[in-house]
Amino acid sequence: MGCDAGDQSTPREPELQCLIRDENEAVELVNDTLEHGILRSAFRCECGDPTCHARVALTHLEYEAVRAYGSHLLIVLNHENPENTWVLSENSRFAVIDVVAGDERYEVMSRNPRHAWVEVPDRSAE
Ligand SMILES: [Zn+2]
Repeated sequence: MGCDAGDQSTPREPELQCLIRDENEAVELVNDTLEHGILRSAFRCECGDPTCHARVALTHLEYEAVRAYGSHLLIVLNHENPENTWVLSENSRFAVIDVVAGDERYEVMSRNPRHAWVEVPDRSAE
């Protein structure tokens, strides 16, 4: 479990994941004018690999389900880093991962654009 600063010239994995997530949020803001059931193909894989430029297709609802949790990220199938993430779910198009390693988890949650810092237990009664 490293506290290594690593190579300063390339963004660290969680930092890159946050940057790509911000980019996807901007994409979804534009997408929001589209029909909600339509697949959007412009989302970038949030695996955090600096060499990955893969795109993922999600519907609005699928995207929102991922964004509901600050530590959840969307990735192309099999792009997860097993050292710091769990795969929560996957289908034929994409997988949802949970960043579970301490420092990385803290970073992606604290920079969550939706500000859902606290993990919400199940659901609140209506
Ligand atoms: Zn990827």
